[in-house]
Amino acid sequence: MSVGGTGSGGPDVVIGVLALQGDVGEHVRALESGGARVVTVRRLAELESVDGLVLPGGESTTIDRLLRVFELRDALRARIADGLPVYGSCAGMILLADRILDGGKGQETLGGINITVRRNAFGRQVDSWEELLPLEEVTRGGPAVEGIFIRAPWVEEAGPEVSVLARLSAGPAAGRIVAVRQGRLLATSFHPEITGDDRVHRYFVEMVRDSVAATTA
Ligand code: GLN
Repeated sequence: MSVGGTGSGGPDVVIGVLALQGDVGEHVRALESGGARVVTVRRLAELESVDGLVLPGGESTTIDRLLRVFELRDALRARIADGLPVYGSCAGMILLADRILDGGKGQETLGGINITVRRNAFGRQVDSWEELLPLEEVTRGGPAVEGIFIRAPWVEEAGPEVSVLARLSAGPAAGRIVAVRQGRLLATSFHPEITGDDRVHRYFVEMVRDSVAATTA
């Protein structure tokens, strides 16, 4: 971990993007624009070096399998249990969920957020969806965030310790939860990394700064 200010109001932080599969580059760019130093994570030493981690969108069954192949799964679960800030988008949300419905054969999640997600929840007819989401916790009354859903999961059930940050308000999935936070874990069904709007990533960078400030205080 590096010390010193970034000039943008918090300690320097190093944020990893799990780079086994998925839209890694988009997350790297969004985090850098949020003022973080970013590294890609494929090895244990890289995982150990980060103050926070992003689990990208992609295919959760593949990422689950590769986490075992690259022998990262147990270490990542341990770091999550230890309070590592993690943000998961889409497939990343599935990985952070304690429970999964319609998972692939033998698929397991890492867990950490007390939610049940339904994988590929939007079904074949509407496997993509777009909607503007107020996402108050992130936008603080500013313009809504563009929610882009691609073969996305939704949250079917959330425990009492989970803050619900966004629900869909239109279409066949109206009312479904699509963004949540529990402690240092953040998850969205949608992909802010592909919109060019970096506010969700900036929000996560602040979560990581807060966690580093809390552990070094
Ligand atoms: N359907 C994918 C899965 O099950 C998630 C899609 C995405 O990340 N865009 O992991």
